[in-house]
Amino acid sequence: MRSIKDELKNGKILLSDGGWGTYLYAKGLQMGDCPELWNETHRNDVLEIAKTYIDAGADMIETNSFGGSKIKLAQYNLEDRTYELNKFAAEISREAAGVTKFVVGSVGPTGKFLMTGEVTEEELYESFKIQIEGLRDGGVDAICIETFYDTHEAVIAINATKENSDLEIITTFTFDKASDGSYNTMMGVKPAQMAETLSNAGVDIIGTNCGNGFEGMIEIVNEIRSVNSNLPLLVHANAGLPIDVDGTLVYPDSPERMAELTPQLIEAGANIIGGCCGTSPDHIRAIRTVIDKL
Ligand SMILES: [Zn+2]
Repeated sequence: MRSIKDELKNGKILLSDGGWGTYLYAKGLQMGDCPELWNETHRNDVLEIAKTYIDAGADMIETNSFGGSKIKLAQYNLEDRTYELNKFAAEISREAAGVTKFVVGSVGPTGKFLMTGEVTEEELYESFKIQIEGLRDGGVDAICIETFYDTHEAVIAINATKENSDLEIITTFTFDKASDGSYNTMMGVKPAQMAETLSNAGVDIIGTNCGNGFEGMIEIVNEIRSVNSNLPLLVHANAGLPIDVDGTLVYPDSPERMAELTPQLIEAGANIIGGCCGTSPDHIRAIRTVIDKL
């Protein structure tokens, strides 16, 4: 079986895809719609997003399953369809990626908090397990547990993946910059703490996504690399921090800006680079050009 980790040996840099959420809204998804239901009702639109990222030069693409945990789907009364909606997500991205590019199953947090007692460990495990089984059976190469903020919930998702598949595991947290310049998740986890916890949990690839543009990501990667130099590191950055322009959120970093910062991000220690909110196929294409020149 092909592995992303093996591809990264010898210092190769891999290019991931760009944002899915913002792209789905651009294609007509409305606030309050379930994005994962589109894997059935708007299959061609989802396939087109996946194909566009492959055409832009991505070595790997994600799946339209970020909110595909059973707990998240229950918000739309779709919890009984968890397995199949995730399987569809994986099949769509596989169709776009063919056999030569990697498909990475996206798994986002449930939005429920263990700390407050609104969900139990068992419920979280079950919620992730069904999602991962769907992604696994739909043909993903790896699972990306992403946009997490709580180490406890992340470890449950990691264990659900390990115990129900042989898939490679990527896990990325989202950090915000505090006024003192430090980076923390909304639960107060720092990049170095994340690296230690995830390394102990046995993930294959660590990293960070969302919440920052490349400039912030370079600082976060430096912090992670100061405590962990052995695990490959993935960065899915936003196209900068959104600015409110007449009531609309605008992501300021152009493809050229992200391309310009790519060498610094690699220098800091990132091995896989891609985009999150606000990034488009144009951003991915621009980063591809830089990676190919290195
Ligand atoms: Zn994002």
